[in-house]
Amino acid sequence: MSMIVKIGKKGKAVVKRLLPAEKHYVGYTRRIERVKTAKRVCAMTFDDGPMDMPAAPDRFGGRAMTDVLLDTLKEYGAHVTFDVVGDTSENYPDEAGAPGSASWGGVKYDHYPDFRQDARGGAAHCERLIRRMLDEGHQITNHGFRHVIFGKKPFVYGKRAYLGSLDAAVADLKRLDTLMRERYGCALTMGRPPHYVDKIGDGFTSYDVYDRLGYQYMAASFDGAGWLPSTLSDPDEALEAEIAAMINPMRAALEADPDFFCGQIIFQKDGYNMGKRTPVAFALGRQLKLLKEYGYEVVTVGHLMQESPFADVGADDPLLPKLVKLSETAGVAFTDNRVRLDRTMAWGELAMLLAPKAEAMAKREAAIRKSGKAHPYAGAMAWCIEQKLIGANANPDAPVTALPEEKFTEVKEFSRRNVYEAYQI
Ligand SMILES: [Zn+2]
Repeated sequence: MSMIVKIGKKGKAVVKRLLPAEKHYVGYTRRIERVKTAKRVCAMTFDDGPMDMPAAPDRFGGRAMTDVLLDTLKEYGAHVTFDVVGDTSENYPDEAGAPGSASWGGVKYDHYPDFRQDARGGAAHCERLIRRMLDEGHQITNHGFRHVIFGKKPFVYGKRAYLGSLDAAVADLKRLDTLMRERYGCALTMGRPPHYVDKIGDGFTSYDVYDRLGYQYMAASFDGAGWLPSTLSDPDEALEAEIAAMINPMRAALEADPDFFCGQIIFQKDGYNMGKRTPVAFALGRQLKLLKEYGYEVVTVGHLMQESPFADVGADDPLLPKLVKLSETAGVAFTDNRVRLDRTMAWGELAMLLAPKAEAMAKREAAIRKSGKAHPYAGAMAWCIEQKLIGANANPDAPVTALPEEKFTEVKEFSRRNVYEAYQI
């Protein structure tokens, strides 16, 4: 691991320990790390492709990296999610950073698949690879047209250019969304922010970006590890170590608990790691073989979410179909993808159920543009108060004490489960 990644990771861990537990709010966009299912089914995601250059080292007769992955997936009957970029060729002037560092592919920007090789990557250039992904039943998600981070990231990516506003981030994602729809007839429904940077810096976050696009936030629960370079200096030994790092933790997890991967989303990369090798081209077949031995089906994230889109409510809960239906137009799950049915409903959560999504979003956005910040429920609360569904002085974080009669059958205790059960749609 490079020093900068080490320091960045350490800094993050320290900050996490010092801050109180993160508070989650009900939202329209949820961060999908995993879903609840008892079935042996899991998803794999591949970031930053497609890549129309050979794997490295090339032991595949010059085949494009993405073709190597697609061939392997076909062999095992696996379907996955490719989190693609559009085109990084506009990300100049720039210079390549130190090999093995986080900026190996560019100091100010990322360049995929490599510095000055932008025309051999991205959905704008690699039409054949994108069509192959779609024809073979894989899912494509939005990793940003230019793969520019949404906001500042001081620890690891201090010199990075960033988009810096909600409008700029939405515009970048829309370019890829439009390209995929118009050229490939493919409607995107999910995205993952470049380098997982959420804070944009203008009071908005990646959740607001995805709200605007009607997407869900595709995260992951298990790191497939191929992106991390080995520190060994011998290139063959380094490659072997990187391949082992992609397989051994997976095997150990399965040996300890054969159900470990049920509902999990595995994070991998369709491209070079910081050492400019592609261990995933070598490890993927062995990962899929291992998962198959334990009876797993590897599916797209979209397919996985049909088991249940939530992390804490599964198909065994009779309320699931209603929650799924409600979540299409209202806020019912927290941003960490949990519904928390046992908790008491708060006024703001009730407002997120009752207010039309477009109105709630527009009111909150206006408040943030005016004063730089707003309570996550500000828009929905304002609409509900206007409609006299909720009292003018209600505290969005305080427990509900009464429900509007025309919308609900009788409820005695205001647990979140009771409220959703009683809600008439
Ligand atoms: Zn990326």
